[in-house]
Amino acid sequence: MERRAKIMATLGPASSDPETLRQLLEAGVDIVRLNLSHGNHETHGAVIENVRRISAELDRHIPIVADLMGPRYRLGKLPEGGSHLHQGQQVVLAEGGDGVDLPLDSPGLLQYLRPGERVLIDNGLVELTVETRRGDQVVARVINGGPVSTRKGINLPDSRLPFQISEKDRADVAFVVHAGVDYIGASYIGSADHIERLRGVIEASGSELPIIAKLERALAVEHLEEIVSAADAVMVARGDLGVEVPLRQVPVLQKKIIAAGRRTGTPVIVATQMLESMTEQPRPTRAEVSDVANAVFDGADVLMLSGETAAGRFPVAAVRTMDQTIREAESYRPRSEKVFGLSGAEPGVADGFHVGSIDIPDAISSAAAHATELLNVRRIIAFSQGGFTARLLARYRPAVSVLAFTTDTAIARRIQLLWGVQPLVLESDVEHHDEVVEVVDRELQARGLAEPDEVIIILMGDPIRERPRTNLMRIHRVRRQL
Ligand code: ATP
Ligand code: MG
Ligand code: MG
Repeated sequence: MERRAKIMATLGPASSDPETLRQLLEAGVDIVRLNLSHGNHETHGAVIENVRRISAELDRHIPIVADLMGPRYRLGKLPEGGSHLHQGQQVVLAEGGDGVDLPLDSPGLLQYLRPGERVLIDNGLVELTVETRRGDQVVARVINGGPVSTRKGINLPDSRLPFQISEKDRADVAFVVHAGVDYIGASYIGSADHIERLRGVIEASGSELPIIAKLERALAVEHLEEIVSAADAVMVARGDLGVEVPLRQVPVLQKKIIAAGRRTGTPVIVATQMLESMTEQPRPTRAEVSDVANAVFDGADVLMLSGETAAGRFPVAAVRTMDQTIREAESYRPRSEKVFGLSGAEPGVADGFHVGSIDIPDAISSAAAHATELLNVRRIIAFSQGGFTARLLARYRPAVSVLAFTTDTAIARRIQLLWGVQPLVLESDVEHHDEVVEVVDRELQARGLAEPDEVIIILMGDPIRERPRTNLMRIHRVRRQL
């Protein structure tokens, strides 16, 4: 059985050379991520070219996620070696400024700070509370002391910050649209409106790239349902999330976010520190292996590696560990869930597509997943141009693998993000539904993916030429190719 949950690997200095990249893909990476907070356009451009070339050589459809920095706030320049803040100490924050305790690198930020709000530095290691404003400066009290140094990140979980799309993010969008990536990662999203504004910036660059909204702010948790509906995929970005909300809440939020994604059919990526110790060690901890397995049990679509593959000493071993751990977890529940219970939209919607409680494509997808439980079927074939049917199917977690046929390589790459779905690219368009069956018979046998007389399930929209939404399920016995 193929692995169902997908693996995303962040690329960086430890993994950008062609040889390591090839090994990562061979070890099981399905999706790669570039973090535009680090590196520059030249190095990212070279990596994008390498990914395209090597995946073509391996006959794989590997999507590239370009993750924008977003409104990331940082300390400015501190004295060489940084300084140490002590509990109870009063400190002065100011923009850029020399001679203050904490210079900030983020123009206009201080005006949003109100007395009583927290200022967290370096992933929450150091904590301050705002006391007063003094002209352009803010005075704060140190609650938890510790070292601070140049360019450390700042989180302001209590403050009402505007969502600004920086010049850097705009330039990065233009760059990655031109370089040709497959998904945009959007940091610090707080509402559906933030997603739509970013979509506007992407469209202004002449592109319709799908957006992965990173859930890493308390505000995003408040707006979970609307974000999951507006985004093309979401990420449980546990790094910043664990700073912005109490860390103990993160495991529960992970489950809630995954459940919300399942309701709307939005893929959910679980990220950060999944195998963190493998950054330095060849073996993971027990807790990390459990974390990976539990993300599978929670129903995550994608599991992500961050520093382990971007900057770690054992990037390929980390991917192998993740691959094996996911497979083991999936073998524990091969028919992972009964599909019958999951229903879609609220009952009674009648808008042309919705007839009963769910719409027609959704009902067909649910029926297909159900049928695999009743028949001895190894595969469902989703014949779709845009990948929409494949996405619906993934939501029902069918017990068998899904092959999504498309003629568009860009769509094939997008489909790769989906749980349990493998894309397959056809050379030419198909005009009629009888032809679909012929093409499926031929392609499956040519690729050794089906035996003659085997039963498969095919989903399609008929009449094909009009590109309707999925409305046809065919249970088909594969015909021997002469
Ligand atoms: P985010 O909050 O967006 O995840 P991050 O700083 O945590 O940002 P990751 O993408 O999680 O970054 O990567 C983990 C670490 O790997 C980074 O902190 C950085 O040290 C390193 N890294 C990632 N990408 C690069 C790169 N392109 N160049 C250099 N270092 C990188
Ligand atoms: Mg982040
Ligand atoms: Mg990170």
